Amino acid sequence: MSDNTTAEQFDVIVIGSGPAGYVAAIRCAQLDMKVACIEKMKDRDGKNTLGGTCLNVGCIPSKSLLDSSYKYHEAAEQLSIHGIETKGVKIDVKKMIERKDGIVKQLTSGIGQLFKANGVTHIEGTAKLLAQKVVEVTNNDGAVTSYQAENVIIATGSTSIDIPVAQIDNKYIVDSTGALEFSTVPKRLGIIGAGVIGLELGSVWSRLGSEVVLLEAQDRFLAMMDQQISKDALKIFNKQGLDIRLGCRVTGSEVKNKKVEVQFQDGDGNEQSETFDKLIVCVGRKAYTENLLAPDCGVNIDERGCIYVNDLCMTDAPGIYAVGDVVRGPMLAHKGSEEGVMVAERIAGQQTVLNYDIIPNVIYTHPEIASVGQTEEQIKADGEPYNVGMFPFVASGRALAANDTDGLVKIIAHGETDRILGCHIIGPSAADLVQQVAIAMEFGSSAEDLGMIVFGHPTLSEAVHEAALSVHNHAIHKANRRKRK
Ligand code: FAD
Ligand code: NAD
Repeated sequence: MSDNTTAEQFDVIVIGSGPAGYVAAIRCAQLDMKVACIEKMKDRDGKNTLGGTCLNVGCIPSKSLLDSSYKYHEAAEQLSIHGIETKGVKIDVKKMIERKDGIVKQLTSGIGQLFKANGVTHIEGTAKLLAQKVVEVTNNDGAVTSYQAENVIIATGSTSIDIPVAQIDNKYIVDSTGALEFSTVPKRLGIIGAGVIGLELGSVWSRLGSEVVLLEAQDRFLAMMDQQISKDALKIFNKQGLDIRLGCRVTGSEVKNKKVEVQFQDGDGNEQSETFDKLIVCVGRKAYTENLLAPDCGVNIDERGCIYVNDLCMTDAPGIYAVGDVVRGPMLAHKGSEEGVMVAERIAGQQTVLNYDIIPNVIYTHPEIASVGQTEEQIKADGEPYNVGMFPFVASGRALAANDTDGLVKIIAHGETDRILGCHIIGPSAADLVQQVAIAMEFGSSAEDLGMIVFGHPTLSEAVHEAALSVHNHAIHKANRRKRK
């Protein structure tokens, strides 16, 4: 045990350097606080690294592989329509993975530089929160040092959920981290869970030539999304060759002859088995609080295993906050970062709040799926009157020019006030398009307001404009079915 009476003091100690923690630490430093950020993560070479799941094994490496694999797919399958001949296109998986690793390194070391530039003290090791806001850190050599702070921000993130019927062996059965590291393209790839990770990483390996089968427990595909969009998505992904099987209950798995056999009950209750070269288990993530909280630290855990916080990310213990994946709400990097900013500014005495109703959500498949605000099903369940406007990308000149016409933009507005309640897009650049509507929603825009804004031509954004016009049945570049107001 270390001696707490001589513990170094900070205004703020942040535990965890993912997008929630490092952003909180930098914002605290900008607000003239003395800040330390404690991080235990090591990279594959055993070196300490910053940036958490997002930069090391999440958002960034997955998008790097999504971009590489899409370029390969375009070159191999899609360029001939433009008159470009690309015979003999090959993928060098090793080089693709090395490129991804290089991007990770560049960004994670960038966080170290940002810490230096802002005066954030980086402490390497595993933190434990004791009573009286004392944080005990065990470093790589097992040495223990204590620090004390006026305020503590917990940002310890999340980890993959394991299932006993398919235990990770990191060789044949992997989680999302293992699926970012395959050294060859698996001939047959099984995926348990057709959620965000299953679809993104399934798309990567399918584009490179894997035969991909996704076994999903729920009967409905992407059940949390607007159902019109998820129905369209299912059709598009099936057309791309992703074999998505709904209502499947995996009952066991076995590694035999360098392959994985998976037993499951299909949607009709029939016993089935499939054999794969690799199996990815991606059935969700859970808050990470292992060995973090001493019993008398004052912080409580909710019924889902997340650290309990209120809307301002305050825990039950005064001066202790928690942000990011370790607390309730969607597990998204940008949600955690904005919570980090809110908490830093609140500690500095500002009145910052976060609008949890307007957090965009994106699945980076091709086409992308992006949404913000409420789905039509949620609005209907609330009993609110509403109008829907839609515009298909097949009617967009720019989408046609790019040979990228799958999908549509859907905007839902309140039936009386016309205020935009939600936007759901499947289509090219959906991630960037939905942000335009998120900005409009943050300013309380009506569908009519959005329809009155001038959009450049020819752009994919025009589909957003037309969907807004379509709410009142005066889209120009499609037939309007209902009576105009
Ligand atoms: P994390 O990023 O998990 O960081 C927590 C950090 O705390 C870790 O570095 C951990 O080592 C450290 N830590 C934990 N306990 C301790 C301790 N006791 N002492 C010291 N350090 C500790 N989100 C998106 O918004 N967009 C995407 O495209 C996207 N893609 C993803 C792809 C994949 C494959 C995965 C797995 C996730 C993806 N996510 C994406 C989710 C995103 O990565 C998380 O929402 C985000 O990283 C959460 O940030 P965080 O700071 O809360 O936690
Ligand atoms: P998810 O919740 O998106 O999907 C998990 C899927 O697995 C669900 O459809 C669920 O019904 C299914 N499932 C659960 N148990 C099962 C079982 N035993 N058998 C078969 N299917 C089962 O979770 P994920 O894909 O693991 O991703 C975790 C989280 O990471 C996401 O919720 C998201 O917050 C974050 N993430 C975000 C992005 C992004 O923003 N683009 C990308 C990747 C991950």
